[in-house]
Amino acid sequence: MAAGGYQRRGCCPGGNLARSGGTGGAGCDAGTGADAIRDREQVRLLANALAKLPPDRLVADMVDLPDEAGEEAWILGARIRDELIAAAQAGAAPPPLRNDCFALPPGVHWTPVEEALAHLKARMQVVTPLQIVPLDQAMHRVAAADVAALRANPPLPNTAVDGYGFAGARGAGSHRLTLAKGRAAAGDRPGMVPEGQAIRVLTGAALPQGVDTVVLQEDVVLDGAEVTFQGPVKAGSNTRRAGEDVQAGDPVLRAGRRITAPDLALLAATGNAEVAVRAALRVGVLSTGDELVAAGNPASDGQIFDANRPMLLAMLQRFGHQPVDLGQVGDDRAALRGVLDDAAGQVDVILTSGGASAGDEDHVSALLEEAGAMGLWRIAVKPGRPLALGMWQGKPVFGLPGNPVAALVCTLIFARPALAVLAGESWPVPQGFDVPAGFSKRKKAGRREYLRARMRDGRAEVFASEGSGRISGLSWAEGLVELPEPAAEVAPGDMVRFIPYGSFGL
Ligand code: AMP
Ligand code: MG
Repeated sequence: MAAGGYQRRGCCPGGNLARSGGTGGAGCDAGTGADAIRDREQVRLLANALAKLPPDRLVADMVDLPDEAGEEAWILGARIRDELIAAAQAGAAPPPLRNDCFALPPGVHWTPVEEALAHLKARMQVVTPLQIVPLDQAMHRVAAADVAALRANPPLPNTAVDGYGFAGARGAGSHRLTLAKGRAAAGDRPGMVPEGQAIRVLTGAALPQGVDTVVLQEDVVLDGAEVTFQGPVKAGSNTRRAGEDVQAGDPVLRAGRRITAPDLALLAATGNAEVAVRAALRVGVLSTGDELVAAGNPASDGQIFDANRPMLLAMLQRFGHQPVDLGQVGDDRAALRGVLDDAAGQVDVILTSGGASAGDEDHVSALLEEAGAMGLWRIAVKPGRPLALGMWQGKPVFGLPGNPVAALVCTLIFARPALAVLAGESWPVPQGFDVPAGFSKRKKAGRREYLRARMRDGRAEVFASEGSGRISGLSWAEGLVELPEPAAEVAPGDMVRFIPYGSFGL
């Protein structure tokens, strides 16, 4: 771009720029004023366009120019690769979270779920830096910027079937057309077909000039140098228009989306070989409690196996984060402090389970309180004990209840959307379905309740026991039934909201 246009003096010498920026016309006019210095206008226009790109994208595109282009593009920094990369990366590092981001308004005793979520949504922000990766590394990463199609899909009009192509509609009755020489196959450059003739075309072939309609090969009779078929055939039949799927410049990926396999198809089809994403969010998982033993080790009387850590690590993996196993620590404040200090240096967020209430052995909440950056979130939700949310050396800590059922529900409802935003994703809202209940239940007013549930025969069943220590019910369930805050008397057949685990990203 710069090599071709920088030194010439005509209006809009950088023709590419005028096309790609979309504002080339205006910038060009500005540069033709009597006293305007054209180069200055070009640089201003280019700088405006470049400033809208994510910083790593800018560097990736500009520093790897061939030598001749580099000579001309010195003004764009083509010869100072390392400095540019360093500057771009500094710009890409997001600001840290505020230390008081988990503070709640004073005097509130039981925060409704929606209010708690609104607080989190308002205060969380991305903490992971931006990187440019090739498509084969982009699966499940979070898009850091909007991406536009570099090329239309399809780029040219082409045939959707194997058959015979010609120009225009054909009315009712029999049609006989002379067959042009050769054929058009996928990958061929578009040739030309004389007026009134037909040509053999194969699926995906760009339509030759003089062809806009295709008749299926099954519908023609081939007779030496001619084809015969019955009308009517509408103009444009069996063809795909250029850009009918996506036009060049259309958005094909939005910042904040976790990239799926079909997204990769769309990016590739529209000419995007790499994409700006967020580095994976490193989430540490720590179990706390003197009673815990990791499965596989001998457990003495009074001890239990640590169920939360394998569950939480696996959930984080499914959410697309990078889980980091921080092990377990007893009910010992000094030891816990040491583990949190180490963790703060190696992860972006810490999830703990256990010790999050206000009891004697609740050291997670005690330490976060001591650090002066804790909110003990008493949320009007069942199951759930208080959540201890705080900052430890600049890293957010989600202190989950120890109870596995409460730990899972609090992770799905509160930690998951917060982690998503920290990872650069848009705030996720789990999609639920209103379905007939296959159970009866009486519910008091005040708290929102989540029941372990699954769908069978078109109805939501719930687990027989609501006991929050019943891990078997978590495993039995395939989702949650959400009962809103008001009192309710649910009878079989009443509509209830079922949210499958899949809607929570599990
Ligand atoms: P806590 O929140 O520490 O008061 O723990 C509440 C309940 O959850 C207690 O019965 C704990 O033994 C149990 N618990 C805590 N952590 C775990 C864990 N990692 N796995 C299984 N149960 C746990
Ligand atoms: Mg405990």
